[in-house]
Amino acid sequence: MYHDPGWLDWPFLDPHHRALARDLEGWCATQLPKGHPQDTDAACRDLVRRLGAAGWLRYTVGGVAWGGAGEAIDTRALCLLRETLARHSGLADFAFAMQGLGSGAITLHGTPAQKKRYLTRVAAGAAIAAFALSEPDSGSDVAAMQCAARADGDHYELDGEKTCISNGGIADFYVVFARTGEAHGSRGLSAFIVDAETPGLEVAERIPVIAPHPLARLRFAGCRVPAAQRLGEPGQGFRIAMQTLDIFRTSVAAAALGFARRALAEALARATSRRMFDQFLSDFQITQAKLATMATGIDSAALLTYRAAWLRDQGRNVTREAAMAKMQATETAQQVIDAAVQMWGGLGVVSEHPVERLYREIRALRIYEGATEVQQLIIARQTLKAFRDAAGT
Ligand SMILES: Cc1cc2nc3c(=O)[nH]c(=O)nc-3n(C[C@H](O)[C@H](O)[C@H](O)COP(=O)(O)OP(=O)(O)OC[C@H]3O[C@@H](n4cnc5c(N)ncnc54)[C@H](O)[C@@H]3O)c2cc1C
Repeated sequence: MYHDPGWLDWPFLDPHHRALARDLEGWCATQLPKGHPQDTDAACRDLVRRLGAAGWLRYTVGGVAWGGAGEAIDTRALCLLRETLARHSGLADFAFAMQGLGSGAITLHGTPAQKKRYLTRVAAGAAIAAFALSEPDSGSDVAAMQCAARADGDHYELDGEKTCISNGGIADFYVVFARTGEAHGSRGLSAFIVDAETPGLEVAERIPVIAPHPLARLRFAGCRVPAAQRLGEPGQGFRIAMQTLDIFRTSVAAAALGFARRALAEALARATSRRMFDQFLSDFQITQAKLATMATGIDSAALLTYRAAWLRDQGRNVTREAAMAKMQATETAQQVIDAAVQMWGGLGVVSEHPVERLYREIRALRIYEGATEVQQLIIARQTLKAFRDAAGT
């Protein structure tokens, strides 16, 4: 399959990033399971084991002592790995990304004991992680969450629900955000690590989705969690969730980029081989205009993605840049994939054709970790603030 690695020479990347991307490319070509899994849970568990054994999951956690590839999460490495995995397999990207999203709060705010217990296993592929923020009545509006954690001696008791939780049903532990009530709204939330086997935690419903992966609604009923499982200080939960999303939002953009690059490769393969009206599909200027739009959209999304990743690796605040990258890359990927389906004609909508799969894979990325409209609000808020700061108003 066509892949132009020329962009790897861009100045946002260091030599070790380029080597990493090339190594993973080789690994994907030989080590990723072929075909479409019948049992998504088993396939995910297998992918986590393989990614762990090969050392790729070391990039999802921070801290060498806990199995991480470096002391902090290398955002550019994370993005390159997600982009490469997504180009080969949406499920492999999912399995990889969730190890990071599910343990990100522990990397950022865990105690040494928490890091030792959880991060080492996440990095080795020995434990599956999940991030439980969304609820039936609070998705985009995180601060409206109702799941409660009531302090009771040296424990907290959790009651409530979480929904659309990736890895729900197969995770070994969940990082759960709940209302502890120190203040109203976003300042009254805390984060907890809850082992999957904890009494009072139940997988209430498995949720089938457009691009199959483990997803569930969780119910907490008198679920007692030791206070030692709390992450950070009481009331810091919202900040912890947003800091975690600031890292992984940029990596969602990278995954979208991987899907878009694969779609362009599939479109080129078809356009240059399909004969019609005595020429190839790629000979028509209408097709060429489509290919130009696809290629330009991909490069613009890549520039925004690696700018955000590079800035974060310089220790800069990237709330605005990550939002721009996520919005642009996911929206562009949707358009690129749709154009690829169109070029493949009838074959493009046949179940499990690569472009049909991409068409399903991309859709949720425009919704989770902040829908496009939420990213627009973030970008607008930051842009207005910069203007007002400059104007002194
Ligand atoms: C496949 C998948 C995996 C997921 N995995 C996880 C997970 O692992 N952990 C987790 O905690 N959650 C997860 N989620 C949940 C996800 O984060 C939420 O679906 C998302 O935040 C949107 O919340 P909602 O579904 O309640 O939609 P709502 O909040 O009801 O929003 C619906 C729509 O309203 C629009 N909208 C939102 N805000 C605004 C606004 N301010 N102005 C105008 N329009 C707006 C957007 O188009 C949005 O899509 C997952 C979701 C999916 C689909």
